[in-house]
Amino acid sequence: MSKKFQNYVSGTWVDAKSGKVFENRNPAHWDTVLGTFPLSGKEDVDEAVRAARRAFESWRLVPAPKRGDIMRAVGDIMTRRKEELALQMTREMGKVLLETRGDVQEGIDTAYYAASEGRRLFGHTVPSELPNKFNMAVRMPVGVAAIITPWNFPMAIPTWKIFPALVSGNTVVFKPASDTPATATALVEILVEAGVPPGVVNIVHGGGSEVGMALVEHPDIDLISFTGSTSVGKKISEVASKTLKRVSLELGGKNAQIVMDDANLDLALEGVLWGAFGTTGQRCTATSRLIIHEPVYDKFLSMVVDKSKKMRLGDGSDEGVDVGPCVNENQRKTVDSYVQIGRSEGAKVVAGGTIASGNGLSKGWFYEPTVLADVTQEMRVAKEEIFGPVLSVIKVRSLDEAIAVSNNTMYGLSSSIYTQDINNAYRAIRDLKAGITYVNAPTIGAEAHMPFGGVKETGNGHREGGWTVYDFFTEWKTVYVDYSGKLQRAQIDNS
Ligand code: NAD
Repeated sequence: MSKKFQNYVSGTWVDAKSGKVFENRNPAHWDTVLGTFPLSGKEDVDEAVRAARRAFESWRLVPAPKRGDIMRAVGDIMTRRKEELALQMTREMGKVLLETRGDVQEGIDTAYYAASEGRRLFGHTVPSELPNKFNMAVRMPVGVAAIITPWNFPMAIPTWKIFPALVSGNTVVFKPASDTPATATALVEILVEAGVPPGVVNIVHGGGSEVGMALVEHPDIDLISFTGSTSVGKKISEVASKTLKRVSLELGGKNAQIVMDDANLDLALEGVLWGAFGTTGQRCTATSRLIIHEPVYDKFLSMVVDKSKKMRLGDGSDEGVDVGPCVNENQRKTVDSYVQIGRSEGAKVVAGGTIASGNGLSKGWFYEPTVLADVTQEMRVAKEEIFGPVLSVIKVRSLDEAIAVSNNTMYGLSSSIYTQDINNAYRAIRDLKAGITYVNAPTIGAEAHMPFGGVKETGNGHREGGWTVYDFFTEWKTVYVDYSGKLQRAQIDNS
C-alpha cells in the first residue's frame, strides 16, 4: 500500500480540507504508486498564509545567528539522510542516483552557507553629512514568502529559496511541483526536526493553477520566489503586479556549448554528454545546442553520436545507468513532438529519435538520447526549450558567428565555450548574453555560494545562490541617529 502524505500548516500535519488526494508515480515504473498527497485548494492556502503571518511576528525577532544555527542543524540532518533522500528522489522523478545525491548535496551546501550568512547579513554604515549624526542601512525581513518550485531539482531549488528566506527572518508557504511532493515533504520534516517553530514553514501540495495561483493572488503574501517555465513565470508576474508583490523569477533556458577548432575535443565530448543528457536533459541549464566550429564539425559530431548511442538508459537507482526516464508522459510527448518538428524542418536525426524500448524500459517514460545534426538557427529546435534528451547541433565558421548563434534565443541562462585560446575565451565571457558562462566546462555545474540566474526571458533580474539571493529576501531600512541634541536639517544646515 502506498504511503499517505499530508500538508504541514501551523505546526500540524493535515489533509486538504476537501479530503481530495493525488497520486505520485515512479517515472521508471509507472505502475508503481509512491504515495498519495493532498489535492489542496484556496482554503488550504488561506490557512497556511494566516499561520505564516502569525509566526512572522515572533520569527523576525529571533536573532539571525540563531536562525542560522537552525540551518546548520538542517545541513547536519540532510547529511545524515543523504542516501535515503537521493533514493527517494530518483524514484520520484527519475534522474540517476549520482545526480540525486548531487541534488541533496547542493541542499547541504546551501544550508551551511545560510548558517554562515546568519552571522553576516551585512548592512552599510555611511558617514553623515551633518555632525554628531550616524547613518546606517540595515537588512530587515520582508514578511511572508510564497515559494513555488519545479520538479527537476526537487531538493536543491527549494533549499535555494527557503533557507535564505528563513535566515533573513521571513516565514514561508511552500508549494512544490506535484511531480516531486515526497522530496519536498522530507525537506519540511527536516526543517521541523532542526527546530523551525510552528507556522514558520508551511507546505501546501496541489496543482499550479489552484494552489500556486491562490498564493500569487493572496493579498497577505509579500514576496514570491518562483522557478519554472517562462510561460508560467509571465502569468505570475502579471497577476502579482496587481498587488505589487516582490517577485523573483528563474525561468527557462536554451543553453549552448561552443566547441572551437582549438578545443580539447575529448574534454568537450565529456562536457557535452553530461550537459545534454544529465537529468535526461531536463535541466534549466541543460546543453540543448552544440555549436561546432567548421574545421572540427564532422569529427566532433561523429564522436558525440558514437558516445550518445552507447549511453545506458534505465531505472536511475541501478548503478551503471547513465540516463533515466523523462519525468512523466507529457514531458516525453513534448520531447517526441520536438524531434518530429526537427525532422520536418530539415534536421537530421543522427542518434536516438525514438521512444526507448527494450528490457525493463517498457513501463517507464524513456526516450533515446537524441542528436539532431544540420540544425540551422531559424529552426524551432534551435530556439525553443525542449526539456528532454535532445541535442541540436549547429555548424559555424567563426567565433563571432558562434557567439551570435549562441545569443540568438529569447533565453539567457547558461553558456559554454571550449577553446585553448585565451583571447577566444575572454571575448566569449564578454559577449555571450547569459547569466552564466563556463570556459572549458559544460553549461551545468552551479555552486551554491555563487549567483545563479539569467538574462532576457530567463528571469526578471534577480539572482539565487550566494550572497545575491539575500537582496531578494531582505528589505533595506535606512536609519539616521542624531546625537547632536538639536534639530539638524539635511541639505540646509550643512553648508
Ligand atoms: P512549470 O512552470 O510548469 O511549474 C513550476 C511550478 O509552478 C510548479 O510547482 C507548478 O505547479 C507551478 N505552477 C504551474 N502553473 C502555475 C500557475 N498558473 N500559478 C502558479 N504556479 C503555477 O515548470 P516545470 O515543468 O515544473 O519545470 C520546468 C521548467 O522550469 C523549465 O522551463 C525549466 O527551464 C525551468 N527551470 C528553471 C530553472 C532556473 O533556475 N532558471 C531551474 C529549474 C527549472
